[in-house]
Amino acid sequence: MERQTRQRQAILDVLRKEKRPLTAEEIHQLGKALVPRLGLTTVYRSIKDMLEDRDLVPLRYPGQPTRYEVPAPEHIHFICNRCRRLYDLPLPQADVTLHLPDGFVAEGQELIIFGTCAECSKNR
Ligand SMILES: [Zn+2]
Repeated sequence: MERQTRQRQAILDVLRKEKRPLTAEEIHQLGKALVPRLGLTTVYRSIKDMLEDRDLVPLRYPGQPTRYEVPAPEHIHFICNRCRRLYDLPLPQADVTLHLPDGFVAEGQELIIFGTCAECSKNR
């Protein structure tokens, strides 16, 4: 029933291990350690199927490559301007939709913080 079980499992394992949303290329690079013959085409196909099954959700931000993550309750994303990694931050998200003008109906919100990550701060 499950398509590409091993590849899908490798993708989920990589995302869980890195604890941050990844691009298909990053998943491919890191996933090869788990499934040695893992090809980029296979990664793309598995991601596509996992998106259809809602096992993954895409993150599309302007000027950023598409990254993927496992669906999770709302959380804050942090993009490092130096290493270009995107991190999930377990911070409470202020509900700015409480202050919408009359007549506006929110269906979701996303807060992104830009800056320098802990690792890049250390290496400066
Ligand atoms: Zn960084």
